[in-house]
Amino acid sequence: FRAKEQRGSLSFFSDDMTVAVQQRLAMEQSLRQALERQEFCLYYQPQWSTDGGHLTGVEALIRWQHPDRGMIPPAAFIPVAEQSGLIGQIGRWVLQEACRQVARWQAAGVPVPRVAVNVSPQQLHYHSLVDELAAALEESGIEPERLELEVTESALMSPGVNAEDMLQALREQGVRLAIDDFGTGYSSLAYLKRFPLDLLKIDKSFTDDLLGSKEAHAIVETIILLGHRLGLDVLAEGVETPAQQQALEQLACDHIQGYLMSRPLPVVELERLLRDAHVDL
Ligand code: C2E
Ligand code: MG
Ligand code: MG
Ligand code: MG
Repeated sequence: FRAKEQRGSLSFFSDDMTVAVQQRLAMEQSLRQALERQEFCLYYQPQWSTDGGHLTGVEALIRWQHPDRGMIPPAAFIPVAEQSGLIGQIGRWVLQEACRQVARWQAAGVPVPRVAVNVSPQQLHYHSLVDELAAALEESGIEPERLELEVTESALMSPGVNAEDMLQALREQGVRLAIDDFGTGYSSLAYLKRFPLDLLKIDKSFTDDLLGSKEAHAIVETIILLGHRLGLDVLAEGVETPAQQQALEQLACDHIQGYLMSRPLPVVELERLLRDAHVDL
């Protein structure tokens, strides 16, 4: 029985590989089409002062509205986009669209906080990112302070990226810079003083363990102290319970983002919230 099972799984294995390769190619093809057919959209997740009193920003999160398969989350296609190089075009679209959205809100009198945009590691390799940023700002006419770019630690540490120069060039355009998923990547603290940063986003995994683990609590406490000593704001990601929120308030964390306050929302729903909330401009 065992031998048979093994043989079965062996042949499945190679079938799986073929299927995986085919699926990837098919995915690449439909990503190209998605760009042409404009099937991507942005959801926006609010960020709050830790006491929940003020809405201080929103993070743009890409979604793929597939004609047959419905809403596809970024985890299902961003990796393929990165491997195939399509992330360059997708990333440019995200940047343009987020800036245009801010401009639309401003034109419509909707109180607009800052918008954060995720930048993929590959985009940092392209020198065109700085030009694309300049173009997106100019085209939309928004103030650069309205825009925050999120990069991960590992992106900054990846070989072939002169992160210091790149971040400096982006910063010179007047945008804010954030480190996303802080604590999960390379975690070299030395870079924090080299890079021109504004915000540390503590990864959700630490927020998850905040109340259950003394170590996680100590790490979060230390990140907040360190961030503040370096003059940075600190935000905790993935806040899901009032107890987590209270603990973060006690630790003097500046901002929170998570399902407790709000999920990522489509534009129309976010607008309703922006009109009702105390928005910090
Ligand atoms: P991220 O930038 O760390 O974004 C936070 C993710 O956590 C989002 O997932 C958000 O919906 C989710 N989240 C927020 N609060 C909670 C919570 O309380 N509980 C739980 N369980 N989840 C929470 P999403 O939208 O699926 O995005 C996943 C990742 O995909 C992002 O992680 C980011 O790395 C990437 N991504 C999203 N949009 C873009 C984009 O436009 N460009 C690039 N390059 N990457 C993107
Ligand atoms: Mg992010
Ligand atoms: Mg994150
Ligand atoms: Mg994360």
